[in-house]
Amino acid sequence: MITAKGKSVSGGIAIGPVRWHQGEERIAAAEWAEDRERELIRLEKARNAAVLRQQGLYERSLKELGKGTAEVFAAHIMMLEDIDLLTAVRRKIKEQGHTAEYAVQEAFEAQAKRLSGLDDDYMGERARDVIEMQKELMTALREDSPGYLWNGSGREDPEKPAILLAEDFMPSNVVRLDRSSLLGLVTREGTQNSHTAILARTMGVPMLVQCGEIGESWDGHCAVLDADAGIVYLDPDREMLARYESREKKQEAGRSELQDLKGKASETRDGRRIRMVANISSPEDLNAAREADAEGIGLFRSEYLFLDGDRFPTEEEQFQVYRKAVEAFAPKRVVIRSCDIGTDKRTAYMQLPTEENPALGCRAIRFCLCHPDMFRTQLRALLRASAFGNLGILLPMISSESELSESRTMLKQCREALLREGMPVGSYTLGIMIETPAAVMIADELAGNCDFFSIGTNDLMQYTLAMDRTAPAMNRYFDTHGDPGYTALLRQIRMAVKAGHRHGIPVGICGELGAVPELTEALLRCEIDELSVNPGAILPLRKKIRELDLRN
Ligand code: PEP
Ligand code: MG
Repeated sequence: MITAKGKSVSGGIAIGPVRWHQGEERIAAAEWAEDRERELIRLEKARNAAVLRQQGLYERSLKELGKGTAEVFAAHIMMLEDIDLLTAVRRKIKEQGHTAEYAVQEAFEAQAKRLSGLDDDYMGERARDVIEMQKELMTALREDSPGYLWNGSGREDPEKPAILLAEDFMPSNVVRLDRSSLLGLVTREGTQNSHTAILARTMGVPMLVQCGEIGESWDGHCAVLDADAGIVYLDPDREMLARYESREKKQEAGRSELQDLKGKASETRDGRRIRMVANISSPEDLNAAREADAEGIGLFRSEYLFLDGDRFPTEEEQFQVYRKAVEAFAPKRVVIRSCDIGTDKRTAYMQLPTEENPALGCRAIRFCLCHPDMFRTQLRALLRASAFGNLGILLPMISSESELSESRTMLKQCREALLREGMPVGSYTLGIMIETPAAVMIADELAGNCDFFSIGTNDLMQYTLAMDRTAPAMNRYFDTHGDPGYTALLRQIRMAVKAGHRHGIPVGICGELGAVPELTEALLRCEIDELSVNPGAILPLRKKIRELDLRN
């Protein structure tokens, strides 16, 4: 048995087989085939696997996102069955003696080039689809394809749940994983406040980061992941397995005790009532939020919708998702944050420029205002969804009055355009994230022009203490509860709350500190009105709040 230690960023226990996640890098294709017949068979197998995967995605999208999104996958299937394209690939193998990989690469690239040369937006889109399907086939041609493991085709036992290991995961990797097959995550690198760690907490998946001893050779072995203790055991003996199985049962019992708190108020003994709402990153989290008795959604990180794809989602696709979210919680409020892209939340198709300091660069509201077409598309989708429930629109990382007023103007223009088009638009509230010291300093001016504040402590901490939240070396500074860093942070929270209350608007916290029980009392003493946390943290925090007495 091997024991490896890491840093826990999402608690819980997982027992199961381990898989090493290779990442998305591609192996360059060898040009010449040794056996042409064998290459043709490999091509056929890969094509079948790719079609199966697209069918799976089609069905999943149809169920979760609606017909509009699902049609993308139907088009992909047609492309994988395109006779002309397939004939071109087969010829390259049969007549010219190329490998399946090389033939796919060449034929699909030529087709994409032809389509994008037609100077037509629709054909340009199709060219992107061709490249997408080229990648699918290349992935399927690789024997050990993690994409296939997690999406249900092409591997020996594809749907078997597993603990996934990797050097590191980008949020865009995690958001694409099939949750039903995901028991836990362990990485060599990574940090506590990275968006990947937050995603794991939101999904309720146990996760360790900075676990230096894991390696590719672990693939296929059995492991116990104890993310509460920060340990992963490879090849556990019987006794260890039995111990953890019984611990899992006890945890289950502890969770059912918390169920008694459902329907009860999150109120201190002296009568201070806090709204407990949920952070989510996809419509798949809505159930967990409801199960946890959330009083609404305090932060829907819409950018994950943008990361779980290979192009910017259309207005219709976004509208379907937002509508589903507001309808699921109506009449309770669902706060959807406009896309917070940049830093670690990026993916290839966005073609973001490389920045020396991305956290100080074109991210969040800056990105949106620099890409008005994309922003307008999202605002229109949000406004259309407002007709179906109680919607709050939240703008990330507002640091100046002009960013707020520019966004308000765009919202107003989108609303007027929709009404002119005869689209139903409801009412909504507009909030801003307080994530920079600049926002705290001008909180009075900002509060006069919006309906609520939501304090993003993850970024407020990063920008207040000048500490990169994704740098492993900074982790220990984020950890030291009660040190001067927290004093500076708590003082800013108090300032923002006071400014909000002076203008009669509520102030909540949606950063990860909101879920740290050791800080709950301090946050309540700052007079916050709302805590928005991952669904799994709601009932434990309600328990904590009900035990507090702020008179003491
Ligand atoms: C925050 O910064 O605290 C926050 C909630 O936003 P994100 O973690 O998505 O940057
Ligand atoms: Mg933030």
